[in-house]
Amino acid sequence: MSVDLSIEYARTLESADPVPSLRDEFLIPPHGGGERVYLCGNSLGLQPRQVAADMQAELRDWAALGVDGHFEAERPWYSYHEALSEPLARIAGAHPHEVVATGTLTANLHALMVSFYRPTKQRYRIVIEGGAFPSDIYAVTSQAAMHGYGPEAIVELSSPSGGRLTAEEISDFFAREGESVAMVLFGGVNYYSGELFDLAHLTRAAQSAGALVGVDLAHAMGNAPLTLHSWGVDFAAWCSYKYLNAGPGAIAGLYVHERHHHRDTLRMAGWWGTDPATRFKMSHEFVPHASAGAWQVSNAPVFSMLPLYASLDLFDRIGTAALRARSLRLHRYLRTLLMAFDDRLRFLTPDADEYHGCQLSIDAGDAAATVQRRLQTAGVVTDFRPPSVIRVAPVPLYNTYVDVWRFASHFSTDDTQ
Ligand SMILES: *Cc1c(COP(=O)(O)O)cnc(C)c1O
Repeated sequence: MSVDLSIEYARTLESADPVPSLRDEFLIPPHGGGERVYLCGNSLGLQPRQVAADMQAELRDWAALGVDGHFEAERPWYSYHEALSEPLARIAGAHPHEVVATGTLTANLHALMVSFYRPTKQRYRIVIEGGAFPSDIYAVTSQAAMHGYGPEAIVELSSPSGGRLTAEEISDFFAREGESVAMVLFGGVNYYSGELFDLAHLTRAAQSAGALVGVDLAHAMGNAPLTLHSWGVDFAAWCSYKYLNAGPGAIAGLYVHERHHHRDTLRMAGWWGTDPATRFKMSHEFVPHASAGAWQVSNAPVFSMLPLYASLDLFDRIGTAALRARSLRLHRYLRTLLMAFDDRLRFLTPDADEYHGCQLSIDAGDAAATVQRRLQTAGVVTDFRPPSVIRVAPVPLYNTYVDVWRFASHFSTDDTQ
């Protein structure tokens, strides 16, 4: 099949796509007189245009109301997080009472593991994806240590083939070793390879072997199709500064399946985990709210939550299914162009639609550093993992076919300069 490599064709694809880009709703970093080609939303999402006005309004409420803003602000601070649960639940595929915007990702993982990592002599191991993000490794290793187990309690599960982890390999592992596993903590999408895991199958296999299943959705929330509740995932956590566009260090979030919303579940308790209707009675008895909100510890950081309102509105404007469809088309176009420009390239990201999000991880070999420099000079923002991997994420909310074309046209690895 021949590929039309012209930029005009990229423009045609953009105007023909049934799902519009909401690029104009975002602030695109400038480059010279134009705009950067920003393909780094897997690391830090762009700022929704609406955020600055929302922030000014919140600052005015604080100035005008002081402490009364807790109940009298336009969006009262006391319940500021509550309205975020519905849109977050739509993205996570959960019930609104199963999710809450709170904390930060790694701290949330710790809080959830305090509840859900309850090792016994026979069943004490934690299974994590091979090549996991370092913070997740530190978190599980330190949780194991708190229960007296060394790093041998951590199992890094990857495919013996070196490629994608298949359903069969997952089943084999749990059939063989499931009895010793207390908990799984897997990424939804691996940050490095961009592989989207079969979370439905993983959850079934691990739970049938008697383990609890947690998922780190840092690279999956707002990027991959999720139905956490119907898969039966026990718990999950995510950050909001990647695909959820809520800004550096923004509020994170967590999910707990409703089957765990009892009073007796052990958890790190704090006053914001109690019923909001009786919280200010200041009783010394902790009565957890029957929701994921019970895992909130402190009162909610309004300014780090605020950008999520604008961003989640944009998700709702398009809907997760339509966004996913656009994302798959952009991703396919990216692969097709790159291969047409240079058929020696190797991709770390699995090819089939159901096994990737928008990110493509490219092994550019010896030329990688040169290519990365060339991209930077041209105002193309990507993420370079030395020695040879370049990660790019065409984000369907704000990236276009023309962004993809610009990137690919600068990418050629024939090393002429
Ligand atoms: C981005 C990311 C983190 C970052 O953790 P913070 O607590 O938000 O600093 C952790 N784990 C994974 C898998 C990530 O992709």
